[in-house]
Amino acid sequence: MSERFSKPCVLENDANAAAWGEKWAGAGKEVKSLVMLTLGTGVGGGIVIDNKLWRGANNVAAEIGHMVIQTDGPPCNCGNRGCVEVYASATGMVRLFKEVLKAGASSSLKVSDEITAKMINEAAIHGDKVSLDVIAETGRYLGIALVNIMHVLNPEMIVLSGGMIGSGQLLMDPIRKVTTQRAFEASYQDTKIVFSQLGNDAGIIGAAGCLLKELEISA
Ligand SMILES: [Zn+2]
Repeated sequence: MSERFSKPCVLENDANAAAWGEKWAGAGKEVKSLVMLTLGTGVGGGIVIDNKLWRGANNVAAEIGHMVIQTDGPPCNCGNRGCVEVYASATGMVRLFKEVLKAGASSSLKVSDEITAKMINEAAIHGDKVSLDVIAETGRYLGIALVNIMHVLNPEMIVLSGGMIGSGQLLMDPIRKVTTQRAFEASYQDTKIVFSQLGNDAGIIGAAGCLLKELEISA
């Protein structure tokens, strides 16, 4: 109960709330366990196990964006190196794109442009090879992250959300390829990899769901 508002309140991490939103009212309604990755300027994560959010011993679980997938990779905002976020965020995709251009590749986008992930996506849809390659490379890194998630948690579902999923199948195809090649068959065969159903509303819907769960109101 909040003293200030005289109403029941819950405080929840945004990525956790989004994961609960997808579990409660979105892509994961039929499953008991899911992992959600929010792919925006950073990479957020949320974990639901046996119909409950997994927050960890100190409420800092599910920092999937800071799972290290390259020991000597580029520095991350968190102070570590080679985190998922360095590769699989919109920021990471733009960085990779600029690196490829600087190395001499030719694209319809110029390195001097204020390049965004959305621009890379649009160029890819119009057949720009560098953009297609960069999205595929981003998908491969994401695939590695998903393999690790599958091996640790073996969830029924992995939900991808955020602006990056605008790349659709261009992103999903390399993810599926990597998970099929690298995960134990028993880990991935029943894990559905899907895009978010609630989009940007997952967080706010999930926050409402968290409160209802807290109040033990079944909705
Ligand atoms: Zn990091």
